[in-house]
Amino acid sequence: LSAPIMLEGRVVEGFGRGSTQMGVPTANIEPGPLKDKLEGLPLGVYFGWAQLDAGQDEPEQDLQVHKMAMNVGRRPSIEDGTDMTVEVHILHTFQTFNFRGKHLRVIGTGYIRPEVRFCRFQELIARIKTDLGVSKAQLDMPEHIRFKEHRLFHRG
Ligand code: ADP
Ligand code: MG
Repeated sequence: LSAPIMLEGRVVEGFGRGSTQMGVPTANIEPGPLKDKLEGLPLGVYFGWAQLDAGQDEPEQDLQVHKMAMNVGRRPSIEDGTDMTVEVHILHTFQTFNFRGKHLRVIGTGYIRPEVRFCRFQELIARIKTDLGVSKAQLDMPEHIRFKEHRLFHRG
């Protein structure tokens, strides 16, 4: 990526496919308010950093920054084709499993691949596992690690 992609917003409910069908939960960021930022962004799989912020609900919560992999896609079922989805899998096991309604900040620092349609479900799963491995490894490199300290994650 020539420049990191910074996105943030509320976690909303998706179709519930992530965890049930693939074993990989993806937190969906409310796409409406991101419309301008998403315009012209290449669709596909990115990796980078994520931070969950529960705000006043859980002031005790540490605002740790975790590795993440994210898919930016179009909703094929929606006619006008402008409705995007941003789905973030955080590479961390959380105590509080449900973080819908909480605020999520992400910085995409690398791009893995465009969105592709897989014929077979097994292929898709295998590809996702590969993407997660690539993300984990890449994010240990200095040029990606440095974004963990970005001010998006360390305000006030
Ligand atoms: P949905 O279709 O509603 O997004 P998913 O099956 O994709 O449902 O699961 C996403 C939800 O799982 C998130 O909104 C969050 O509450 C929860 N979750 C738990 N752990 C993670 C994680 N490591 N990364 C992303 N989401 C997680
Ligand atoms: Mg999801």
